[in-house]
Amino acid sequence: MSLVTDLVCVCCGRVSADAPLRCTCEACGPARGILDVRYDMAAARKTMTWEALADRPLNHWRYRELLPLDDCPDWPVGWSPIVEAPRLAGELGVRRLRLKDEGRNGTASFKDRASSVGVARALAAGATTIACASTGNAATSLAGYAAVAGLPAVIFVPRTAPAPKIAQLLIYGATVFRVQDSYAAAYDLCSQACDSFGWYNRNCAINPYLVEGKKTAGLEIAEQCRDDPPDWVAVSVGDGCTIAGIGKGLEQMRELGLIGWRTRLLGVQAAGMAPVAKAFHGEACEVNALPGTLADSINVAVPRNLDKAVRAVRASGGRYIEVSDQAILAAMRDTGRLAGLFAEPAAATAVAGVRCAVRHGIIAPDASVLAMITGNGLKDIDAASRAAGAPVDIPPRLEEVRRYCEQ
Ligand SMILES: *Cc1c(COP(=O)(O)O)cnc(C)c1O
Ligand SMILES: [Zn+2]
Repeated sequence: MSLVTDLVCVCCGRVSADAPLRCTCEACGPARGILDVRYDMAAARKTMTWEALADRPLNHWRYRELLPLDDCPDWPVGWSPIVEAPRLAGELGVRRLRLKDEGRNGTASFKDRASSVGVARALAAGATTIACASTGNAATSLAGYAAVAGLPAVIFVPRTAPAPKIAQLLIYGATVFRVQDSYAAAYDLCSQACDSFGWYNRNCAINPYLVEGKKTAGLEIAEQCRDDPPDWVAVSVGDGCTIAGIGKGLEQMRELGLIGWRTRLLGVQAAGMAPVAKAFHGEACEVNALPGTLADSINVAVPRNLDKAVRAVRASGGRYIEVSDQAILAAMRDTGRLAGLFAEPAAATAVAGVRCAVRHGIIAPDASVLAMITGNGLKDIDAASRAAGAPVDIPPRLEEVRRYCEQ
């Protein structure tokens, strides 16, 4: 049995019961009525102890007390490594930097945490087909875990979806509808299709149970850094579910008495698409005037989890910050060359945010920082090529190599 007690609306506080297809608050609607899942924490405290955790498998199902499932599958998701990056720390001007490498998840992004929970919930609800509209990692991870579970997946992508991600979707056996229109049109068509055909709609940002999957990264940070907490955790922000989930995971570990420390959250957005950062600082934001960013995974003009994302950072005593696309490309290069990690633009955004926060005196030079590397760089080869430049073309002659090296 899951320990979910109920769901509470972050907007009006209304409480609703756990139900297979519950999504948003009936009173507030899908735009504002984002729900938060609550658990019987007293019961969780009894069984989720350090002793018990020591014997559990190294994947995110180890936190089953805090997941919205009666039975957890055993798919390998989560427990991504945290690596020290001393040379990158030096470059950014901070005493210590650790990177949590989410690119090592099954489909190479952080979204596996959410999608694996989504697919498990769909199976439990008796779904026969799962669908979503997305261009990016949410769709590819959904298709990947649907394949693992043997559940047919239908994905609606907009005309502009990047080729590598479409290839990944097709390889996982999903039916991919490339809608000859915008993302909004693909999203609407997906909703209509789900209503008409009874498919399980894995709405990426508003489904409260998916945030519970993202939360496991916060639970893991608490466990992996148990005796050695970071002062800051840096996270890139699009819809805001990732940072809200990490904040919730860390708080729940405190509530269970498993850790006694707090860490500040640094929310990082691309300057060309920073509605959450602007809301955090009380600045007006004209959605249609936002120029956008090359970091496609966080190129989100209407963040679906704005309230949760702002609150999580505020509650942690943290900050939001904006970085330019140039700074994101530089962070991709530095993360590769100084830490050996290939980050997609949205992942390198967290690293760019650390550099910027140190420069502005938000993060002190003697601080210990953990940055979330949310997705692998192979997801977006065009951006990587822009960041890294071209190889040296030469004829097959040693003197050419020597000439180059002596330059
Ligand atoms: C989705 C995503 C994010 C941001 O997560 P949100 O929940 O949209 O804030 C960051 N990085 C990568 C690689 C992502 O795919
Ligand atoms: Zn409500």
